[in-house]
Amino acid sequence: MTLYQANRMLNFLLLPFLSFFIGCNDGKVNRANTKPTIVANKSKADTIKNVDTVKLVVSQPIQYDTTKKYIYLTFDDGPQNGTAACFELCKKLGVKATFFMVGQHASSTHLKQIVSDIKNNYPQTLLANHSTTHANGKYHYFYQHPQMAAEDFYLAQKTLNVPFKIIRLPGNTSWVREGKLRSNGLTKPVCQILDSVGYNVIGWDLEWNFNHKNANPVESAATMIKRVSNYLEKNSLNVPNHLVILTHDRMFRNQNYTDSLSKFISMLQQNKNYVFETVDHYPGLKKLN
Ligand SMILES: [Zn+2]
Repeated sequence: MTLYQANRMLNFLLLPFLSFFIGCNDGKVNRANTKPTIVANKSKADTIKNVDTVKLVVSQPIQYDTTKKYIYLTFDDGPQNGTAACFELCKKLGVKATFFMVGQHASSTHLKQIVSDIKNNYPQTLLANHSTTHANGKYHYFYQHPQMAAEDFYLAQKTLNVPFKIIRLPGNTSWVREGKLRSNGLTKPVCQILDSVGYNVIGWDLEWNFNHKNANPVESAATMIKRVSNYLEKNSLNVPNHLVILTHDRMFRNQNYTDSLSKFISMLQQNKNYVFETVDHYPGLKKLN
């Protein structure tokens, strides 16, 4: 029996016990808080292992070329309407991208399959952790209960079968890397907990904004190209020469906006000084798995 087979066997034997403890934790959180809990219920926390072809994902360190600018294209909140379009486009254009996904959104076999496909397409696309509940939109409450928030992330890590300890906080740009923590007063406690158990937290430098009524992109592809160039020129970035771009899958669910994303990526690809990478290659991260 190889180490890998032994590990799988151990997981199989431990799964009922782990499920029991997760159930207990849910109960404890419910009793401890009179306000509605933000931890997902057990039915929504089923793992996606049944549609995942269980593949060991290993991140190989890269050598940075000091003459290049690194772009980390990230899509948040999937799996949702638009995720498949973004994923197919990235594959078609051969561009590396990261999908920060929400455990609770993987609510059907079809959506779980998209999560699995993105994970198994590594190293081109990377699946990363964007919580189980997305704080149910109650960010203040979520971050004021840092232990509960941390457990929300641990649950997503397990249910989505996320390969690396890489998180993006819902509704907040904070950063946790090796020996470095950049957050505000609200998110600092959860960042400290996540840091203490080996997680990296990735924020963003530049957002492609969306209209909050219809989820359509606010800026055109051409405007975003200019903004990318300006940000890289000014180098007002979390790490110089490394630009993290935030977008949301749902912005590109309609064909005309998928085309807009396609134009944006294709134009950036034409600049030979730009290199697209997944966020596991962002500088200064802690050990990933
Ligand atoms: Zn989000």
